[in-house]
Amino acid sequence: MSRIGRIHSLESFGTVDGPGIRFVVFMQGCPLRCQFCHNPDTWEVDKGDEYTPEQLATEILKYKSYMDFSGGGVTFTGGEPLLQAEFILEVCKILKQKGISIAIDTSGFVWNSWVQEVLEYTDLVMLDIKNFDPNSYKIITGVSLNPTLKFLDYLRDKGINTWVRYVLIPGLTDNLDNVKELSAYLDNYPNVSKIELLGFHKMGEYKWKELGLEYKLTDTKEPSAESLQEVKEILESNGKIVSVNS
Ligand code: SF4
Repeated sequence: MSRIGRIHSLESFGTVDGPGIRFVVFMQGCPLRCQFCHNPDTWEVDKGDEYTPEQLATEILKYKSYMDFSGGGVTFTGGEPLLQAEFILEVCKILKQKGISIAIDTSGFVWNSWVQEVLEYTDLVMLDIKNFDPNSYKIITGVSLNPTLKFLDYLRDKGINTWVRYVLIPGLTDNLDNVKELSAYLDNYPNVSKIELLGFHKMGEYKWKELGLEYKLTDTKEPSAESLQEVKEILESNGKIVSVNS
């Protein structure tokens, strides 16, 4: 019997989660508890809708022509998609036979043999580095930074194309020395072809309230255009391509 996956939601025409037009799969479940999370409703792994790998692949393949003409594909995000790597692996096997490009948006926190296998089918990893200072990372996410850095090492060793995502949050991730250290560190990773700098916003705040959770960033402002530009220039200083999405 097929492994069952639990899915929060599907988006058929995504344009911000990888190249081209993407079919975006928001997987249920996440071991992190990021203070700025937009999707706290994805945290619990036992919620969402159940799909078999075949059901999900069939849904995705309906949009193949849009992905083909735009240079797009499918993106698994969440939540933390690799929490359900065993399920995703089965979906990837079907999609690869049909020539679909596969991207994974991940924190790099989960590691097991299924994750390794999923990466064999992955064309692009979007790796979220929430902060480069280990203490701040723990405060922001509730977990250790180390697994993410080991994950990045593995991606380099395997030569997997990677975009690093960094969310600029005033007071939490805008320490410029810390950003400089991250920029220098990424210089050692030729597989990192792009850094996406994302401006913090509070779109998910209402979900925290609905879930009865305490949102700690109510008084945090969105970063200014000047601050985004300053951080962009630091991230570019070692030769990486940097895009800004505010
Ligand atoms: S990793 Fe993503 S889904 Fe999980 S808590 Fe952080 S922002 Fe939310």
